[in-house]
Amino acid sequence: MARLGSWIEPFPEGIYVKPADAWVDPSQPKPVALVTHGHADHARGGHGAVWATPETLAIMGVRYGQQNANPVAYGESVRIGEVEVSFVPAGHVLGSAQIILDYGGERVVVSGDYKRRPDPTCAPFVVTPCDIFITEATFGLPVFHHPDTGSEIDRLIQRLKAEPERCVLVGAYALGKAQRVIAELRARGHHEPIYYHGAMERLCNLYEELGVPLGELRLATGATKAEMAGHIIICPPGALNDRWSRRLPDPITAMASGWMRIRQRARQRNVELPLVISDHSDWDELTQTIREVAPKEVWITHGREDALMHWCMLHQVKARELNLVGYEDEEEE
Ligand SMILES: [Zn+2]
Ligand SMILES: [Zn+2]
Repeated sequence: MARLGSWIEPFPEGIYVKPADAWVDPSQPKPVALVTHGHADHARGGHGAVWATPETLAIMGVRYGQQNANPVAYGESVRIGEVEVSFVPAGHVLGSAQIILDYGGERVVVSGDYKRRPDPTCAPFVVTPCDIFITEATFGLPVFHHPDTGSEIDRLIQRLKAEPERCVLVGAYALGKAQRVIAELRARGHHEPIYYHGAMERLCNLYEELGVPLGELRLATGATKAEMAGHIIICPPGALNDRWSRRLPDPITAMASGWMRIRQRARQRNVELPLVISDHSDWDELTQTIREVAPKEVWITHGREDALMHWCMLHQVKARELNLVGYEDEEEE
């Protein structure tokens, strides 16, 4: 009998599904791509045909223009070549999916990036039992424990209120994290206008069009210092320390990322208020997920593989590193 998953072939540039003649999240243009979610390291432009959720396709449309797009809604399935393909929520960003591949009596689930805690901007992760679970491991070390999101958001609101003549400038990745921080602020009762950097306008508009309410948002461009005093301003991490931020009223610099757990990273970016808010699973979420999915094998795409490999060995789960390249971590940007 053939080895489990012998029809799935990992290459450095992505996962090739032989009987479908298709690639999952390829980092180079391919004739047929199945895409888990819209982050740039998973969703590239220039493929022949793209299969993804309608939300992911809409995000790719904003970033890359029109694709040869084949939408598959959560829970629907399509046949590609000889493989039954379906998409279930991954809880990572709007439209993010785990891709389920059924072939020859075997089930493989490619997680893409995922998290387990609630996120007001996307559908929660669905546990799908399978033979092979192909997982990320961005925060795959026991030291990574993400605190409760609500308490991080409360720290942000308290800091804002403590110095109302200043503003708090929050660095957050433009797809997913920015909208989540805004929605989490709304959920904690912060209904003031929130200002944003122009680079986020199209994606924030798209989230609203796709049914994620973000409350009153205003472009920081054109607003005066006096107008922005006492308010939260969201920008991409790259804009935190650049010229752009000099127009703001004495900003308190914050950043929302799982990496803010590491003090050194916060210092490198001159972040005064590190907010540990991640769209990836922490160590407990990764191991809990492997327990619940209970696969025969775990394959690890990218991140810190060693500790998770070791954990799998201790728990009698066969594990394998795929060493895919080109998956940078968007929280790192
Ligand atoms: Zn991602
Ligand atoms: Zn990623």
